[in-house]
Amino acid sequence: MFFKNIIGQQETKHRLIQSVKDGYIPHARMISGPEGIGKMALALAYARYLSCTQRGEDDACGICPSCIKYNKLSHPDLHFVYPIVKNDKKKKEICDDYLKEWRQFVLQNPYFNLNGWLNFIGAENSQGMIYAKESDEIIRKLNLKAYESEYKIMIVWLPEKMHEACANKLLKMIEEPPAKTVFLLISENPDRVIGTIQSRTQSLPVPPIDDESMAQALQNTVIGSEAPQAHSRDISSESQEIVHLANGSYLKAIELIENSEEMRQHLELFISIMRNCWKKDLKNMRAEAENFAGLGREKQKSFLSYAGNMMRENFFYRLSMPEINYLNQEEAGFSKNFSPYVNENNVIDLINELALAERHIESNVNPRMVFFDLSMKIAVLIKK
Ligand SMILES: [Zn+2]
Repeated sequence: MFFKNIIGQQETKHRLIQSVKDGYIPHARMISGPEGIGKMALALAYARYLSCTQRGEDDACGICPSCIKYNKLSHPDLHFVYPIVKNDKKKKEICDDYLKEWRQFVLQNPYFNLNGWLNFIGAENSQGMIYAKESDEIIRKLNLKAYESEYKIMIVWLPEKMHEACANKLLKMIEEPPAKTVFLLISENPDRVIGTIQSRTQSLPVPPIDDESMAQALQNTVIGSEAPQAHSRDISSESQEIVHLANGSYLKAIELIENSEEMRQHLELFISIMRNCWKKDLKNMRAEAENFAGLGREKQKSFLSYAGNMMRENFFYRLSMPEINYLNQEEAGFSKNFSPYVNENNVIDLINELALAERHIESNVNPRMVFFDLSMKIAVLIKK
C-alpha cells in the first residue's frame, strides 16, 4: 500500500507525510473512524513511508529492500496485532498463528471489516478477540532490536477488541516505549479503548471518503474488474446513488455494487425460468437445473429467496398497490407482462414451493432435483 493508492483522504495523507518530513514521529497514534474509509490503508502507507530508505517527496520509493518486504507485509520490523478466534484443535491462539492468512487477506484489499476477516478465517459465527496471551507476544516483539529499519512498527487493528489484561500490558508499553517504536492503533470505537491508552496516543480521526474521490474509485473498480458483466455495464447512472448510500465507506460501496450485480443475475435467471415454465420447455428446464446446481449453495438460497419475493411483489403489482411495491425498473418491466399470472389461486402455493426448495437446499438435497422439481411445480401453478 502506497499513499498514492489511497482513496481520497488528501488531508490526512498530507498530515502523515509532512510529519515524517518534519521528523515528528509520535510513538503512538490512534487512527480512528468508521469502517471502510481507509484507516488500514493509511497506516500501511505511513509505515511503508517511514521505513523506506529512499523516501520520495510524497510516497515511498517502491524499490528499496524495505519496500520490497512491505510488498509482502513481511518486513521483520513490522508487527501486527488483530482479533483472532482461538482454535484449540489447530493450536491457533496468538496472532502469529494466523499470520499467513492475515497477510494474504490484507494484501488482497486493505479496505475490510471484522466480519470480512472472520469470514476469511472461517470463524464467522465466533467473536474475534485479542486474547490475554497476546500481551506476551507484544512484549517479546518490541523488546527485539530493530532488524533493518530505524523504527519498529506495531499496527494494532481494533484495540477495542483487546482482553483487559492485554490492554493493560499494552498501556505499559505505550507509557514507556522501547526506543524507536511506533504504535499505530486502528480503531472503529476509540471510546471502548481504555481511557489511559487513549490519552497517551496522538489522536488521528479519519473522516469518511469524499464523494468525488469515491465516484472516481468506483469507476476504476468497475472498469478494472475482471468480471465480464461489469465491463458491459455503465456504472455512472447508478454510481451517484451508490456514492450517496455508501456514506464515505468504500467497503459499503463495493458491497452495494456486488448486491446490485447479484440482483441483476437473479432477475435474469428468474425471467428465464418463468419463460421455460410457461412454455413447459423440459429441455431448457433441465439445462437450467444444471446451471443452478453450479451456482454454489449460498447463491442458490439467495436466488430462491429472491424468487419468493418476486412472486409476492408481482401479486401486489397486479393489484396495483404501488405503495407496497419494491420492484426496481428492470423488475417492473418484466412484471408488467408477468404479474397477471400470479394471482389469488396460486400465489400462496408459489411462495410455499420456493420456501420449501430453499429449505431443501439448506439441508443438502441434490440441487438439480430440487430445481427441476420446483420448475415442474411452477409450470403447473402459473397456469392456475
Ligand atoms: Zn522504499
